Amino acid sequence: MRIVVKLGTSTLTHATGKLNIRRVELLCKVMSDLKNAGHELILVSSGAIAMGVGKLNMTRKPSDIPTKQALAAVGQCELMYIYDKLFSEYHHTVAQVLLTGADVEDQHRCMNFQNTLFRLLELGVLPVINENDTVATAEIAVGDNDTLGAIAAVNARADLLVLMSDIEGLYTADPRRDPQAALIPEVRALTPELLALAGDAGSDLGTGGMVTKLRAAGMCMEAGCDMIITNGTRPEDLYRIAEGERVGTRFYGGRQ
Ligand code: GLU
Repeated sequence: MRIVVKLGTSTLTHATGKLNIRRVELLCKVMSDLKNAGHELILVSSGAIAMGVGKLNMTRKPSDIPTKQALAAVGQCELMYIYDKLFSEYHHTVAQVLLTGADVEDQHRCMNFQNTLFRLLELGVLPVINENDTVATAEIAVGDNDTLGAIAAVNARADLLVLMSDIEGLYTADPRRDPQAALIPEVRALTPELLALAGDAGSDLGTGGMVTKLRAAGMCMEAGCDMIITNGTRPEDLYRIAEGERVGTRFYGGRQ
């Protein structure tokens, strides 16, 4: 299977913005093992801005764009350093791919992206994708990594996109407010009722929420790719997902 795994900021870092070492080590180990088992993996990783916050010992995410962009530049280095170090332990090679919305909207640039992605996979390399936050202002940005994950999955012709964040999946109501809220295990069509279930609150350090996740689901399903929303606190769930077990909420794109 060709699987795109998107890791949200809340999965990768503690609330301080510093790396969640135990979690990230386990994620890299499981992904390395899945590669060893013959799956092709692409990682879409958030966390650049949060890692910049942590590295420069700031207390919270700034709101002005130049500081966020500067922090992304600092944090992206740190992120890639960590991925390179951890995946190298299992003899896997990573490649950094930074994109903006303008890159994927332009047919020629998008094709270059796709060609590079395919070649990296042929070479057995694990592409690590993030938005090029240092140059991406609102007009040209994808804006959130759930959408970026879907862009990666569609362009890579992946079988599956897994969004790992701080929520188990899509619920019938907001589980933080409504104790009756129930997890929806599978979705075969994005109906207006379903779209209305998305609140908008993301985490403090990340960008996305359920709205961006459902948008990503729509893009994947249209391209025939399945998508799963699951909690990133259990990296080993990736094994269960690869084995076709039911985890989180699965959106069926119809390819499998
Ligand atoms: N590109 C952002 C970062 O690396 C994250 C965007 C998102 O979480 O959706 O900090």
